[in-house]
Amino acid sequence: MKKYNFNAGPSILPREVIEQTAAACLDFENSGLSLMTISHRAKNFQPVVDEAEVLFKELLDIPEGYKVLFLGGGASLEFCMIPYNYLEKKAAYLNTGVWATKAMKEAKLFGEVVEVASSADKNFTYIPKNFEIPTDADYLHITSNNTIYGTELRKDIDSPVPLIADMSSDIFSRPIDVSKYALIYGGAQKNLAMAGVTFVIVKEDTLGKVSRQIPTMLDYRTHVKKGSMFNTPPVVPIYSALLNLRYIKAQGGVKAMEKLAEERAKIVYGEIDRNKLFVGTAEEDSRSLMNITFVLKPEYQDLQDEFMAFATSKGMVGVKGHRDVGGFRASCYNAMSIEGCEALVACMKEFESNH
Ligand SMILES: *Cc1c(COP(=O)(O)O)cnc(C)c1O
Repeated sequence: MKKYNFNAGPSILPREVIEQTAAACLDFENSGLSLMTISHRAKNFQPVVDEAEVLFKELLDIPEGYKVLFLGGGASLEFCMIPYNYLEKKAAYLNTGVWATKAMKEAKLFGEVVEVASSADKNFTYIPKNFEIPTDADYLHITSNNTIYGTELRKDIDSPVPLIADMSSDIFSRPIDVSKYALIYGGAQKNLAMAGVTFVIVKEDTLGKVSRQIPTMLDYRTHVKKGSMFNTPPVVPIYSALLNLRYIKAQGGVKAMEKLAEERAKIVYGEIDRNKLFVGTAEEDSRSLMNITFVLKPEYQDLQDEFMAFATSKGMVGVKGHRDVGGFRASCYNAMSIEGCEALVACMKEFESNH
């Protein structure tokens, strides 16, 4: 049976990216050596990092003055690196869920943290609007897509202070105006590559403004200076990211990804709104195109386990919702096909007609 991978992360990747990564693990570019066993300083590996950076810049139309880094530690290490490198006195955070809260927790170790707005009052089912950004903050931190709650900002806001964004789960799903940001980061395992690499897009002249000493590995300037090669970077994940960037480019870039995301969302949200059994959890104007969260209506709550089993029997993988939201979550990242969304919809329709 064909499986459709709706996992939230690590998550779906294009088949060719997986096959080519696997092939390189056996024999990297006809070198007779596995990609897993070559030196990151090997002559044939530097071009991988270089091309990945070039494709980042090309696909996201990154202006001059920015550097792309490939680091370890996941998005979670960035939660601490950001205040380490940027927080002198006060930082502003938009609280849109678990990941934003975790980011704030780390920042509080370094200085004052102002929560500019929070959607905790309604279990993070919406993105707050019309919040005030303190002009004396060192930066404003936002989470562009809330993987757990299925909400997404999906636009580049104006900020009077340096803007920093966690784009772990929606990077490369739409064009972004990078010039509005001081730093953009994310774990790769949602929409870019296999787990193990963290991407950071950083505006170089925003660094070096804090007075504290920063440990070498946690100082962005170290990695800028050494081109992500200060220590051994995650070689295989970086290669898988490069392959996926090539794939995105061949598909028509982020505009094409955006169009696909809109089509997928229309299909799945359309069914959620039509189907008598289900209801979406996120407010309509905050709905994520990447993580589509829905639950059974109160009168059908007892069908929870039955629908999970039914969906699984139809080849749907990873549609169980996060424990903080319950219900179901269909993560529709770049590599999810329209066919996969149609299969999920067919499954929801059939389940409805059975009840
Ligand atoms: C998954 C996720 C994280 C955590 O990423 P790690 O790479 O596991 O540290 C942070 N932010 C968002 C929005 C995520 O979806």
